[in-house]
Amino acid sequence: MVELQANTWLTRYNTLRLPARSRYFVCATDRTLLLQAVAQARRDELPLLILGGGSNLVLRGDFPGVCVQLATRGITANQWDSDWQWVTAQAGESWHDFVRTCIANGWYGLENLALIPGTVGACPIQNIGAYGVEVKDYIDAVELLDLASGEVRELSGQDCRFGYRDSIFKGELRDQVVILSVRFRLRRTPQLVIGYQGLAEALAGIADPSPQDLFDAVVALRQRKLPDPAQIPNVGSFFKNPVVDRARYRQLLTRHPGLVAYPDAQGMKLAAGWLIDQAGWKGFSDGPVGVHRQQALVLVHTGGGDGAQLLALAARIQADIQRRYGVALEIEPRIYGSPRLPAGLCW
Ligand code: FAD
Ligand code: NAP
Repeated sequence: MVELQANTWLTRYNTLRLPARSRYFVCATDRTLLLQAVAQARRDELPLLILGGGSNLVLRGDFPGVCVQLATRGITANQWDSDWQWVTAQAGESWHDFVRTCIANGWYGLENLALIPGTVGACPIQNIGAYGVEVKDYIDAVELLDLASGEVRELSGQDCRFGYRDSIFKGELRDQVVILSVRFRLRRTPQLVIGYQGLAEALAGIADPSPQDLFDAVVALRQRKLPDPAQIPNVGSFFKNPVVDRARYRQLLTRHPGLVAYPDAQGMKLAAGWLIDQAGWKGFSDGPVGVHRQQALVLVHTGGGDGAQLLALAARIQADIQRRYGVALEIEPRIYGSPRLPAGLCW
């Protein structure tokens, strides 16, 4: 039977380094451990938190249930045809290592998603995206454990209802399933996406860039522009880019001629980082939490703070952006935990 650790600090398991404990914790390196932990949580009627790399969640306080860090590994090449290669990766695989493995094997499409922290199992949750590519375009199916029925089943990419940083796993199936593995359908012939300004510039000097060149350019760009969570704890973009209809966009543009926005299927996608920057928040700090000095979309924790302080700062920014632009900013990472237990107390 699986042994759950009691009163475990999750500080090192979340990239914001927020101090919070879980009533029980286990690192599941195989499916049997996962199933046993799930059964135990169910028997004791405790909530369950599935953790990957902890790079897209905010621990507001202690978690009163069972936290399972999913660390299952394995990458398998499945069938192929003249255009596509199907590949299955287990949930606990590191996302960045998986992207690197794909390129090394001649399986293409994921290059723009290099250096995104976290695990393969979390990639469908918010349909990770960067530099004009979203993972949904390469997900064939997701294998999942249905927590209500205990059944293992497959959901096709189409049934995952992917949207902009969104999926069924953030809606109807939120906390209802554990993603066990993801099957990708990858290109056998590269088709590079290099439209984003920074990328186009980085690759301008290369006559016929290869997928490896693109991967290297994305890694270099991200290392230059984004704070490394190991140095400055963060969860990447704290807010989603809001999408408004075109009439609203034109109104905003009249009042804010420098407004940065891009066409989107639903209207216009506003650069949330620009809104926050223009409102004067970039570099702002409030004790242990603040806004990164180069990336207004990234909230940081410089040590000694907690999730409640970080969320209070986020709420101030949301209120200010609403007041100035009439635009609602939605928090991107998922929030867990109840108020922290008083020091010295445990479950
Ligand atoms: P976690 O933070 O561990 O979990 C996130 C959520 O998914 C939680 O609700 C968790 O319960 C759930 N979950 C995780 N694994 C499973 C599973 N197997 N089954 C069921 N539920 C699960 N995101 C982007 O989209 N694009 C980017 O370019 C990007 N850049 C980033 C840069 C930095 C510096 C950082 C810190 C973050 C960035 N992110 C980006 C956000 C984040 O890395 C991704 O969302 C990533 O997919 C989260 O993976 P994770 O394993 O850390 O998930
Ligand atoms: P950037 O390239 O400076 O662009 C700023 C914003 O403008 C981005 O949010 C991006 O939207 C949008 N944008 C820029 N060029 C665009 C184009 N040609 N078409 C459509 N939209 C465009 O952004 P950055 O902060 O350095 O990040 C680079 C990429 O990594 C972005 O795609 C970003 O989403 C991704 N990223 C995500 C996270 C996260 O946690 N979610 C963290 C860091 C970086 P999109 O965000 O829709 O791409």
